[in-house]
Amino acid sequence: MNLWSKDEAIASLLNGGVGVLPTDTLYGIVARAADKQAVQRMYALKSREHKPGTVIAANVSQLVDLGIDKAHLRRVEKWWPGSLSVETPLGAELNYLHQGTGRQGFRVVDNAWVRGILEKTGPLVTSSANLAGKPPAQTIEDAYHSFGSSIDFYVDGGNLAGRKPSTIARLTDKGIEIIRQGAVIIPAYALVNLTNSQSTCPFCLSNKLLGTPILYESQALFVTMPLHSPIEGAFIIVPRLHTTQLTDLSDYWWKDMKAAITELPVKPASFNVTINYGQPAGQTLEHLHFWIVPREDGKPSSGKGLATLVKIIDNSYSGPISSIQ
Ligand SMILES: [Zn+2]
Repeated sequence: MNLWSKDEAIASLLNGGVGVLPTDTLYGIVARAADKQAVQRMYALKSREHKPGTVIAANVSQLVDLGIDKAHLRRVEKWWPGSLSVETPLGAELNYLHQGTGRQGFRVVDNAWVRGILEKTGPLVTSSANLAGKPPAQTIEDAYHSFGSSIDFYVDGGNLAGRKPSTIARLTDKGIEIIRQGAVIIPAYALVNLTNSQSTCPFCLSNKLLGTPILYESQALFVTMPLHSPIEGAFIIVPRLHTTQLTDLSDYWWKDMKAAITELPVKPASFNVTINYGQPAGQTLEHLHFWIVPREDGKPSSGKGLATLVKIIDNSYSGPISSIQ
């Protein structure tokens, strides 16, 4: 492996190069964010289509120059410089950067060595220096095992095993949501910015309206019992994000969902996992949630899935629709 100096890496980047260097958090594979071809090459090397990297910059004005909405940046710049990445919505003109996802993470770095590079190159897109599905590189040798001679440079920064990944937050129309607590700890109260529908929502914890105990919680969700449950022993899994849309739930969220399903405090042996999605499906709240409905032997409904029960009700009923409870 041929190691490069900082200045050589800067020259390569300005020339459309793609390489690995120590960022303010972990080793990252980087390319100049304004260089469409270099960014496309970087994503191809990572085999990470549709999962955009994070854009790091020396200051906010570099991000404005790149075409990021000033209004979005104004809401988060008080946290920078620091290891806090903030995902903001991004338009189609920067499709090559956000890979068609409409969102991209940004941060202004605190690390003087990395800023020295960014001041010369402009913002860089960075993604962890490993192939998709592999653990992040802790040493430059780890990174070399992933990319070999397919990239243009490697800058050594020693063993970074003790470093934490960046904290990730997401800017939404409704406020700021923490997706991953990492190097920077953001207190939840600092992010609260309730809209009208959140201030009356039983599942938005900041308004303290939840009347049932929290049985399990993680960064992205919590588990509680429904207030008026038609079935004894039912649980609901509630995203912390106030939304009606499944597509608003991040990859990090689904990871927490997997853990919640595994670690449920009292898990029935048999159950249905169900979501009432949309008003005709029975949803009356603006905050989606998943039901865990316990099922057991010896009941009239035993052996039938929920879809079958819906069909039985619909087929056997001939009275007015409004009288079904
Ligand atoms: Zn809510």
